[in-house]
Amino acid sequence: MLFNILVLLGTLVAMEGVGTLAHKYIMHGWGWWLHRSHHEPQLGMLETNDVYLLALAVISLALVAVGKAGHAPLQWVGGGVAAYGALYVIAHDGFFHRHWPRTVRPVGRYLTRLHRAHRLHHAVKGRKGSVSFGFFYAPPLKRLVRELRRNRGSGL
Ligand SMILES: [Zn+2]
Ligand SMILES: [Zn+2]
Repeated sequence: MLFNILVLLGTLVAMEGVGTLAHKYIMHGWGWWLHRSHHEPQLGMLETNDVYLLALAVISLALVAVGKAGHAPLQWVGGGVAAYGALYVIAHDGFFHRHWPRTVRPVGRYLTRLHRAHRLHHAVKGRKGSVSFGFFYAPPLKRLVRELRRNRGSGL
């Protein structure tokens, strides 16, 4: 049991790396047509960007199914992917973008930095020149601002 929980937690941590890379190279790369809606003013509750969340759900369900079919502990990897998806919805949609019934102010240094870093991610409207692609880890804000200026300076 302990091993399974470690697999789940390990997956959760690894998913931040996967999520950061996917956001940077897929969502701001060839997958921009789906992510674009998220960098534009929002019209309704749903955006085409939510397709990525759906993909995450399909992947986690597939992993759970394969794991249960005799390839343990893949179901716990699937559980970790699902947990990351749920945390993403809470942090990104709820906390960063305030899609919650009431506004929640960031408290503490970690959450404040995370929140501001995501604001900086949205400081760039287009596909290129953005900074801070992670959801639960943010580089120091000063570094992000410097990076943003440099990107703007080079015409990105
Ligand atoms: Zn983005
Ligand atoms: Zn966002």
